[in-house]
Amino acid sequence: MSVKSPYNAELTAADRDRILAKAAIFAPPSNVLADGRRDLVGLSREELAAEVAAAGEKPFRAKQLWHWIYHQGVTDFSKMSSIARPLQEKLAEHFVVGRPEVSLDQLSKDETRKFLFKFRDNEAVETVYIPDPVEDRGAVCISSQVGCTLSCRFCHTGTQRLARNLSSAEIVGQFMAARDAYNEWPSPKGETPRLLSTIVLMGMGEPLYNYENVATAMKIVMDGEGIGLSRRRITLSTSGVVPMMDRAGEELGVNLAVSLHAVRDDLRDELVPLNRKYPIKDLIAACKRYPAASNARRITFEYVMLKGINDSETDARALVYLIAGLPAKVNLIPFNPWPGSTYETSSPAAIRKFADIIMDAGYSSPVRTPRGQDILAACGQLKSMAQPAG
Ligand code: SAH
Ligand code: SF4
Repeated sequence: MSVKSPYNAELTAADRDRILAKAAIFAPPSNVLADGRRDLVGLSREELAAEVAAAGEKPFRAKQLWHWIYHQGVTDFSKMSSIARPLQEKLAEHFVVGRPEVSLDQLSKDETRKFLFKFRDNEAVETVYIPDPVEDRGAVCISSQVGCTLSCRFCHTGTQRLARNLSSAEIVGQFMAARDAYNEWPSPKGETPRLLSTIVLMGMGEPLYNYENVATAMKIVMDGEGIGLSRRRITLSTSGVVPMMDRAGEELGVNLAVSLHAVRDDLRDELVPLNRKYPIKDLIAACKRYPAASNARRITFEYVMLKGINDSETDARALVYLIAGLPAKVNLIPFNPWPGSTYETSSPAAIRKFADIIMDAGYSSPVRTPRGQDILAACGQLKSMAQPAG
């Protein structure tokens, strides 16, 4: 049995309540359209069942709707062929199966594709599809908030103040709309990889500051009678919201990525200001407790390579010391510049040396190849108002 480090449960619970209360202040608008119809996307199974019951229909209708919405990807009630015409019409009077509007769709020369999705209140986020360069599969990088409160110094999203949290419909809707764009319906059965085969919650925003909506969306995505993506195919990235990490691990069991970026508190305080609240020691302790981590499912430590800031050999050795004993890998991300950014990317030689030190200590240390830089789609370049490149 692994030894879980102790932590102050009372303090953590109080902090968690505070985070959830703050998330509520930035709550998304309701799922009811101006014409009174309700969007069925983003409702949990229980909520969908309640809607169906309130409309005076039998419970099995909820199961049928779930299948049409999340397995078949159908948005038009008249195409739901197992439902009789009069009921189709009744459903269409009361409900919609919504999608975010594609307000910009850009293709990089490396095939990475970036969508600007606009929601009903005109707020927008970016979503990126990153195809595997070799195989027919790829990752959809999903946003969780419009903007971010956290202002990490090297991140473009951090320059955009938080407008609001995304709803569960808007989170799952990014994936569904991306699937529409690649004609990937119905959902694949079992583990057959398809183009949109994994989800990374690595877009705009801090997913653990919008936990409830992210959790509802991920439960929908993981439901075996719908989209059916296994928790192993989902990775949630956090800048280190310690009190919510345990809960995400227990309730969702998805893979965890942690934006570490520095091995000393003085530097991390500066680069990732959230560190002042949850310092490195607490963050590593939360990683040690993370229930869904194992040797088969290692925690990814993300580490942006900033020239002359955090890329020395001493830093690399300190990193190895920090993660000792954790089932971990280190993802080195060469800094991606954006308009107005002040940092420089580490030299290839410095990155190589850094990666070697980590690898020699027995950890995998892939260097993330920047993708979609020409359309500002790479890590940390996303922002709602991004203009087309060129
Ligand atoms: N807010 C979450 C999710 C975003 S994930 C988080 O911070 O973890 C995006 C990853 O890209 C994070 O590790 C982030 O720190 C990193 N990143 C941000 N700006 C970057 C940049 N300009 N270049 C490279 N990586 C960057
Ligand atoms: Fe927010 Fe993550 Fe960017 Fe930091 S790196 S500002 S937490 S989106």
